Amino acid sequence: MLAVEGLNAWYGPAQALFNVSLSVGEGELLVIQGLNGAGKSTLLQSLIGIGPRAHGRIHWQGQAIHSWPAHRRAQAGLGFVAEDRRLFTGLSVKENLWIAAASAAAPGARDTPAQRCERILALFPQLQSMLHRPASQMSGGEQQMLALARTLMTAPRLLLLDEPCEGISPVLVMAMRDALLQLASEGVAMLVAEQNNILARHAQRVLTLTSGHMDAAV
Ligand code: ATP
Repeated sequence: MLAVEGLNAWYGPAQALFNVSLSVGEGELLVIQGLNGAGKSTLLQSLIGIGPRAHGRIHWQGQAIHSWPAHRRAQAGLGFVAEDRRLFTGLSVKENLWIAAASAAAPGARDTPAQRCERILALFPQLQSMLHRPASQMSGGEQQMLALARTLMTAPRLLLLDEPCEGISPVLVMAMRDALLQLASEGVAMLVAEQNNILARHAQRVLTLTSGHMDAAV
């Protein structure tokens, strides 16, 4: 469903990705590993269209999307959760979720936003109990869950997740992992960047980025 060929990216004169190629199949969980600075975030950001200057071919469900702006890629079914979460911290959990539903076309959705919200809250019971709390008053792990829940409100076909289980409490790591595996079992494809091996052991494939180079063209 996603095919990337010969992707290069630069921050000014410094090249961060070198000829990266990969593919993600329907319903696949693919993990990208790599040390700090290897280029994992740059890769995900380039795929969603918010990265630095990049050149290469990106095909999504048969369409060439590398020249598309980020919002069009999101509308086409790519959902991104950044490492820094990017929540509306002054708004409540419920408001964060509904803003996502209102701003996204969710063309692939087979349910209404209300049904989707109910299903997502069942996946994250922690959020259900704090619906009216401002995001700024949540722990890092709870915010991470909200960031994922908010992206799920857009009914993505492929989730791009940057370190989803990084820097959160062990209990919430397990809750996050279980929620992601539940989504994977429901057929949501995922491309996950991580260093901590939480999802890698459940992945169909694990690739490694080293100083901007992918270990193999897959
Ligand atoms: P981490 O696990 O620490 O988040 P990463 O694998 O996600 O690392 P990137 O953040 O993609 O790696 O960084 C890849 C390279 O690009 C690194 O050499 C980094 O210093 C550089 N880089 C990242 N962001 C910028 C930026 N905004 N300006 C300049 N260089 C950057």
